[in-house]
Amino acid sequence: MARSKVARIWGTVFPCADCNTVLAVRPDWGALFGGGRDGDWFMVKDHVWRRSQRDGECRFLCVECLEHRIGRKLSADDFRRSAKANFVGKKSAKLRRRIRGLKPAKRLVETTFTPWRS
Ligand SMILES: [Zn+2]
Repeated sequence: MARSKVARIWGTVFPCADCNTVLAVRPDWGALFGGGRDGDWFMVKDHVWRRSQRDGECRFLCVECLEHRIGRKLSADDFRRSAKANFVGKKSAKLRRRIRGLKPAKRLVETTFTPWRS
């Protein structure tokens, strides 16, 4: 599994594909102890994400760049109710405003990732 130098020090970083804002950091020990830093980390519904991928496929986008790509603002309806990522972590005021009103599903699913290959 190839990783960049930065990733080796910090764990795995998840940057926005368009503006490079770091959305979350998962330390390598996170699998054992949890932790890391979740910033503006969120999951939208598949159809919303698919639309954002028409300008080029990527793994992660921040709110601003996602909205730019789909050409409109996100609303609570666009976020996945079952994604734990939408309800935890330290989110920006902007993202909180978008998510406001979203009710968590009874069973929240932890988001897991496989680091991308570089
Ligand atoms: Zn961005």
